[in-house]
Amino acid sequence: CGIVGYIGPKPAADFLIEGLRRLEYRGYDSSGVVTSEPKGMLNVTKTAGRIDLLATAAAESSHDGQIGIGHTRWATHGPATDVNAHPHLGGDGALALVHNGVIENYQSLRGALVEQGYQFFSATDSEVVAHLLDSELKAVIESGEFDNSPDPHAPLVAALQGTLSQLRGTYGLAVVFRDWPGVILAARLGSPLVIGVGDDEHFIASDGSPLVGHTDRIVYLSDHEVAVVTADDLRVVSRDAGAVSHQVKRLEIDA
Ligand code: GLU
Repeated sequence: CGIVGYIGPKPAADFLIEGLRRLEYRGYDSSGVVTSEPKGMLNVTKTAGRIDLLATAAAESSHDGQIGIGHTRWATHGPATDVNAHPHLGGDGALALVHNGVIENYQSLRGALVEQGYQFFSATDSEVVAHLLDSELKAVIESGEFDNSPDPHAPLVAALQGTLSQLRGTYGLAVVFRDWPGVILAARLGSPLVIGVGDDEHFIASDGSPLVGHTDRIVYLSDHEVAVVTADDLRVVSRDAGAVSHQVKRLEIDA
């Protein structure tokens, strides 16, 4: 239903929780956040029910990281439980992902991933995307294709492109990676996403309302685009091919 993300010099959880509150008007049954912690782990807090519950739980679980993503869920596959709330971890916790939309072919993807040894914890369609991305990333790294690439995020982009090409359905996605703690990847097909451009910080949201008061410079992601977001850089690439140019526009919204 709703997505938020933050990368910059401030504690991410503050923006994430506040942003999720501003997306409440869209309706939701559960919510969650993940921050990438300085000590090299992904810290997930998620819960069914009101965002107040999430805020309390998150405050108790020291989300200190300056990178994170969050989600309000409106369940389509699997009941509104803590476990089914997003973010979902991929593999052994190498990445965490939030998803808006519906993955129509999740059952066949899930079957193939279970055969590869992946363990599923939720009943959602979204969790397949997390494990599929983990599997694609392992394959990209094993191939050694980007070992000499000057772009440290090239393997992540290739793995996400490989993942998206296998999905049928709709998605707005945001992903953080345990071993690449300085980047958020986002992608969309049929589910809106905007990137807010700040000073040495970027914001991600499924609509403009969480950005109000933080920045009025925004980039609308188009279908089939992938955004590679660091604190001081924003790159947009096509799902299938190379870089595309992006335009920064003014956010116009009545607060
Ligand atoms: N299909 C996903 C789920 O049921 C995402 C729903 C949403 O867009 O919130 O978990």
